[in-house]
Amino acid sequence: MTDLQARLAAEITARRDDLISLTQDLIRIPTLNPPGENYREICDYLDRRLLRSGFHTQLVRAVGSPGDSDRYPRWNIVARRAGARAGECVHFNSHIDVVDVGRGWTTDPFGGELKDGKVYGRGACDMKGGLAASVVAAEAFLAVVPDWGGAIEISGTADEESGGFGGVAYLAEQGFYAKVDHVIIPEPLNVDRICLGHRGVWWAEIETHGEIAHGSMPFLGDCAVRHMGAVLHEMEETLFPALALKRTDMPVVPEGAKQSTLNINSLHGGQDEILKPGTGLPSPVVPDSARMVIDRRFLIEEDIDKVQAEVRGVLERVKARRPDFDYSMREMHRVLPTMTDRGAPVVTTVTEAIRATLGRDPDYVVSPGTYDQKHIDRIGKLKNCVAYGPGILDLAHKPDEYVGVDDMVASAQVMALSLLSLLGPPRNP
Ligand SMILES: [Zn+2]
Repeated sequence: MTDLQARLAAEITARRDDLISLTQDLIRIPTLNPPGENYREICDYLDRRLLRSGFHTQLVRAVGSPGDSDRYPRWNIVARRAGARAGECVHFNSHIDVVDVGRGWTTDPFGGELKDGKVYGRGACDMKGGLAASVVAAEAFLAVVPDWGGAIEISGTADEESGGFGGVAYLAEQGFYAKVDHVIIPEPLNVDRICLGHRGVWWAEIETHGEIAHGSMPFLGDCAVRHMGAVLHEMEETLFPALALKRTDMPVVPEGAKQSTLNINSLHGGQDEILKPGTGLPSPVVPDSARMVIDRRFLIEEDIDKVQAEVRGVLERVKARRPDFDYSMREMHRVLPTMTDRGAPVVTTVTEAIRATLGRDPDYVVSPGTYDQKHIDRIGKLKNCVAYGPGILDLAHKPDEYVGVDDMVASAQVMALSLLSLLGPPRNP
């Protein structure tokens, strides 16, 4: 490490307690999504903090985005601090929402308890610990490095867990990424891994159609559920084996996600199994409709049109051998795969910072599921983006979620060293 790098790293070590209490404070604001609670509260908290650190801040409500209402407004914060001279803009983006608590906790999910070097709570690793690390990294950088150029931005955004439309997508549409050069998303990928991107997503609803009749004479109707059974059978016989053979060169983790996958997200046919209290037994009818929602994750080597054609092929094969089979298919959602180049400036910068901080080379990974990089890429038109942050990905959304304090300190050092090489004074030869 250079002298300045070492001083910066030491400054972050000295701010360890501050990093812990910031993470605890963020966890204690329950920003559950759905429905999208307390976005304004957490933005106000970050606003006070970042104003004190000399940032200009802007609170942006994603008016009209999915889920935005007066009861649950989609608030975001964007903070910016410019240096003394011109230069590039480094943007840290963290989502402020957390998922449902679920069962099985032995700690208070919104208590932010510190125990054995770990901070516990819903959102500890995904991703309030990462958000706190980026704030402390920027503040330490400002304290130690007076001579710098360009701008540092920190955003806290809504709704990542439900697609990010009221968060990063909205900001990107408003042009917030137009003047950004580098984006680091402190998602919990582990301190020594850089996430370059994610697989693609295609959601569709398949419906089989039948004909209603009395349940005692099913031969007078046409059962949509049996048609759907034939679809499932065909999927088992041909589609799932074909998907298992498609392997990607993307460094996707975990290993099982290095192939194409398909999840049957829901399946429903006929009347509701559980009727509203007091309405008695179901009536005997042949179901005339069955619906299935599929969640297909595809690889960068695959073409979205072919992904769709493959599923349609399943349905057409069933149709060819099954009299009266009729179906419809409706796309619900699509996200193309994205992967930042390993030679991109943000990748090489974070790589060097990891080497300097941890003394080893990072692993490069690709996420099995999407995150807000999709909007930065597609709407913001910015390819120079990675996810890098503290915490263990496997703990995300689980009971007793935690983030390790040592991990937070190390990743804040990596973030601060990245700021130093992108915005700091030119290095002496
Ligand atoms: Zn996350």
